[in-house]
Amino acid sequence: TDDFFKNIISHAKEYGFVFPSSEIYDGLSAVYDYGQMGSELKNNLKTYWWKSMVQLNENIVGIDAAIFMHPTTWKASGHVDGFNDPMIDNKDSKKRYRADQLIEDKIDRYEKDGKTDKAAQLQKDLDEAITADDLVRLKAIIEEHNIVCPVSGTKNWTEVRQFNLMFATQMGAMAEEAEKVYLRPETAQGIFVNFLNVQKTGRMKIPFGIAQIGKAFRNEVIARQFIMRMREFEQMELQFFIRPGTEMEWYEKWKATRLKWHLALGADSTKYRYHDHVKPAHYANAAVDIEYQFPFGFKEVEGIHSRTDFDLKQHQEYSKKKMQYFDPEINQNYVPYVVETSIGLDRLFLTVLANSLVEEDLSTEEKKDSRVVLKFHPAIAPVKAAVLPLTKKDGLPDKAREIMAKLKLDFNIQYDEKDAIGKRYRRQDAIGTPFCITVDYQTLEDDTVTIRHRDSMEQERVPATDLRRIIGELVSW
Ligand code: ATP
Repeated sequence: TDDFFKNIISHAKEYGFVFPSSEIYDGLSAVYDYGQMGSELKNNLKTYWWKSMVQLNENIVGIDAAIFMHPTTWKASGHVDGFNDPMIDNKDSKKRYRADQLIEDKIDRYEKDGKTDKAAQLQKDLDEAITADDLVRLKAIIEEHNIVCPVSGTKNWTEVRQFNLMFATQMGAMAEEAEKVYLRPETAQGIFVNFLNVQKTGRMKIPFGIAQIGKAFRNEVIARQFIMRMREFEQMELQFFIRPGTEMEWYEKWKATRLKWHLALGADSTKYRYHDHVKPAHYANAAVDIEYQFPFGFKEVEGIHSRTDFDLKQHQEYSKKKMQYFDPEINQNYVPYVVETSIGLDRLFLTVLANSLVEEDLSTEEKKDSRVVLKFHPAIAPVKAAVLPLTKKDGLPDKAREIMAKLKLDFNIQYDEKDAIGKRYRRQDAIGTPFCITVDYQTLEDDTVTIRHRDSMEQERVPATDLRRIIGELVSW
């Protein structure tokens, strides 16, 4: 499985999906750039989310709030005081770790070694210490279980301290007057502060939702596992405003809806599970993660949180503006409750890569052969079809370009005439293109082409004039 994860990372780089940021300067830790294929895939994933949230639901609308927000926002939200990770330093290697993650790694190791009782006990101890915010206990657990530094192998630890995850910068040119502002650590607050604006201008009636896709920033203590834990990442969040007392009903509904959404991308359902939180974050009264089985174990991809009226009440208090809704059905004013769904786009991207990358053995008795394919759902594939003239002569390229011109406004199409046709098919397989359109001598006579299907590798002959309809049907949502 380590090898599979390495394959994903190297395939992502080799085919233009994900590059380390500023790589010519040896990269920047936990920051990545999306390349020519990656940005297409990412856009398609955003579209899939946006359509299923905003377009399909009459009572959900989308916004695009700024990354910078008034600094009081983060006091009100609790992030200035409470958005911390417990960290511990190893005195020999001078490396810093998240105390809870060192312990979780140990739990994983116990499980791998078949010591399930020990793993369960340690999990319980960890949960208790986290629930009680007991930093001394966390350190004691690390010592009791002989947890060593992954780099130096020593047990020479400092005490556990809290570390705030928000990035800060200065707004304004004059040092004396400059105000400290934060890069948002979640997109949700941009929705809460706009609650009244959207509700009033959109004449929204509860229950209704506000959706948003945007960048978020966290100064993660340890950054690892490729695009799993980044310092700059993207979130797709929905805040769903409801009448107090109905939160559990909506929580359950969104929990089920969101898992279905993941499975609709074609993933194996055994790779997903729910993980209930023992200690929901400071703003929530119930929380569950949707976890995906990555090559390195089950990890959170999306969180569903019942946030109560915590955020709106806090903003009401700090801003002195009434965050209320008049509910005509029950003739009452109240501060709405909120159920949130929050998914990391980059983690979703990684699940899609892990779900799609396969190496297929195509060997026959005569010769050994294999291919690497990204079996994306056609709707999210970066390139929908490749147009390939069989040879570079006899007018085939002109004919191919003519066919491509009729398709490229509707679909992202690649043209490729270099190398033998088999090699070109393999290149398209590796970036997950669902269909290859081959233009050959027969095309010049009767205007038909072949379509080669990525997964079955079967070919069919169709009139070129039908391509728009056929591809449209095959790649539709
Ligand atoms: P974790 O426990 O893994 O740090 P979290 O519980 O802090 O995650 P939330 O605050 O619930 O995460 O954020 C919602 C979603 O945002 C997560 O489900 C995840 O997909 C994504 N996310 C959070 N932090 C990161 C990060 N550093 N890099 C990439 N995605 C992230």
